Amino acid sequence: MHGSPSEPKSEHFRSNRGLAYYKLLEALREPGCPICRLGRKTVSAYLEALLYENVNDPGVREKIQAAWGFCTYHGHELATLGDALGLGIIYSDLVSAAIEQLAPLAARSTAISTRKKRLPWPFRPRLTGEPDLTPRAICPACENQKEAFERYCEELMSAISEPEIEEAFRQSDGLCLEHLRQCLSWTRIEPRERLASARRKLAILEMVKFRDLAGELAELLRKYDYRYAKEPPGKESDSWRRAIAKISGTTKSCEERG
Ligand SMILES: [Zn+2]
Ligand SMILES: [Zn+2]
Repeated sequence: MHGSPSEPKSEHFRSNRGLAYYKLLEALREPGCPICRLGRKTVSAYLEALLYENVNDPGVREKIQAAWGFCTYHGHELATLGDALGLGIIYSDLVSAAIEQLAPLAARSTAISTRKKRLPWPFRPRLTGEPDLTPRAICPACENQKEAFERYCEELMSAISEPEIEEAFRQSDGLCLEHLRQCLSWTRIEPRERLASARRKLAILEMVKFRDLAGELAELLRKYDYRYAKEPPGKESDSWRRAIAKISGTTKSCEERG
């Protein structure tokens, strides 16, 4: 990786380079969408810290409870960390909470249900005692990932005209569609001219990515024609995989649950 946060300031208009700048630059030099990659890395570090440092923090446990645990994707990511003690502590909270929520319904006698049915309008039975299994917050890892996506979208839009970032972007796979969308709709950059120029620059750079990909896909399909089938496969052979990654992203999008 080139440079470091202590690197002398260049003549570039933007001199307040922070850690996010260098992380973005590093991610641009790796395959796939840099923002997906940084989101995944941020969440992995968050989950590891959760298990090794914060598992007994009541605030953290409360957040996890409010979300009824992690989403499917991050629950499985946690499982790969294999920390039986930390995960046992977190999930025993949730399992106990589920028992607590189910107990009143499980204990309700059918006699009560029959009696309730006979109650005439407007004396409807109150719904207390119904199990409340609905999350009140998004998965804490998704929340962490969402913040990371925003932080790096902002960094990219702020730094896209820096020659070093622009060059790294040219050499990269560019953004997935979701993060392209997120960056193009980024508005928190002043002044307006700077925002307009960053959006245009991103569109120009991404047009090249999409055109290159379109060319490779066309070449891939051409070689499926029996007349050219004997031609050896080239770099277009995995373009369909890169097209999927480009359009669908390489990490779970943050969707609110509940
Ligand atoms: Zn992405
Ligand atoms: Zn999640």
